[in-house]
Amino acid sequence: MPMSPEFEKRLYPVLAKVAAHFGTPFHIYDEAGIRRTGEALKRAFAGIDAFSEYFAVKALPNPRILEIMRSLGFGFDCSSIAELRLSRRVGARGEEIMFTSNNTGPEEFLEAAREGGCILNLDDIRLVPKVPEFPELICFRYNPGPRRTGNAIIGNPIEAKYGLAHDQVVAAYRRAMERGARRFGIHTMVVSNERNHSVMVHTVAMLLELIEEVSRELGIRFEFMNMGGGLGIPYRPEDPPLDLAALGAEVAGLFGRFASTHGYTPRLAMESGRFMTGPHGALVVTAINRKEIYRTYIGVDACMSALMRPGMYGAYHHITVPAKLGAPPAGPVDVVGSLCENNDKFAVQRGLPPIDEGDILVIHDTGAHGHSMGFNYNGKLRPKELLLRSDGTVELIRRAETLADHFATLDFAPDRLAP
Ligand SMILES: *Cc1c(COP(=O)(O)O)cnc(C)c1O
Repeated sequence: MPMSPEFEKRLYPVLAKVAAHFGTPFHIYDEAGIRRTGEALKRAFAGIDAFSEYFAVKALPNPRILEIMRSLGFGFDCSSIAELRLSRRVGARGEEIMFTSNNTGPEEFLEAAREGGCILNLDDIRLVPKVPEFPELICFRYNPGPRRTGNAIIGNPIEAKYGLAHDQVVAAYRRAMERGARRFGIHTMVVSNERNHSVMVHTVAMLLELIEEVSRELGIRFEFMNMGGGLGIPYRPEDPPLDLAALGAEVAGLFGRFASTHGYTPRLAMESGRFMTGPHGALVVTAINRKEIYRTYIGVDACMSALMRPGMYGAYHHITVPAKLGAPPAGPVDVVGSLCENNDKFAVQRGLPPIDEGDILVIHDTGAHGHSMGFNYNGKLRPKELLLRSDGTVELIRRAETLADHFATLDFAPDRLAP
């Protein structure tokens, strides 16, 4: 079931007014839905001594959204300087932030250490000597390679650029200890948009085994394990949702067995992005052109700059036309943007009600990796973001980009070299 039905129920009655006031296109997010999912996540893992979610900032990097995450008690998973700054801008400090960069550069290490630092999650053993001030608490990202199969978005672990190889893990922690590390965590992220909870349970089991192995070798204890993000959502109407309760229960079982053998358990951390906000966002557009050639094209007032997933991954995003909800499909159409790229299509050969120019279309499940992934090819600008508050008001939380923003990098001090 794409887009939460409660969100639809709250949004559709006010949609025409919202569109008239703010103008399309816009992404709109549902505070009540985000809070409901956050509470469900905490409930599912209540059987574990200590559970923490570090919201993956890249999914929806907007301060108003990050404030909601903080009020749920969540921290932040960052992988860039901009994401670190955003997290700190809403007040997160120290161990409320996990920094999971890859191919990390010196500026990123410096930023990570600012304002009370953060949990540093290193992606390679060779980064150990490159950390300017080595922290007491250190985490490494693990890549299981041939031990796991991964999935479509994140790729096969053996081909994935992330993390330590299995045979580097013990040496990495040893080197970290030599640099003064005394507290330890371990991290992995093997799959993306995965709705089969057994895959996540398998990941937790894998990390617990690795913790046993490294603890035995080095005589250290792990404070936490981070199972990554990757919890999937149903984008298609026929997709079953992830069984969150089963995931929580089975993981609690694994932690219970670990506790009975070792007399303690690490904290369980997770860094879900998509699962937290994906279904609680929608891209609202207006049909501006209807074109009949070999196929029928519905041209809308947004393009890939607002939502890359269909063009980039061939991802399915459900589309509804709220004013024509009961109408039978009127033959397949392609819903397209205005980019000079033929993959600039929000839907391909989709059965939709008869669409006229001026109709408002709702593109579902754009709450994660939607606006944030947009790019400016062709000089196309990114749209505004709105937040439907729990009290029913609608707030502008990011303005649309302007041409002045776009041309800003053309204003600079002259610089010429004659080598
Ligand atoms: C992108 C990313 C996430 C979030 O992934 P979702 O699929 O949105 O849950 C979490 N952790 C890391 C390291 C990531 O790169």
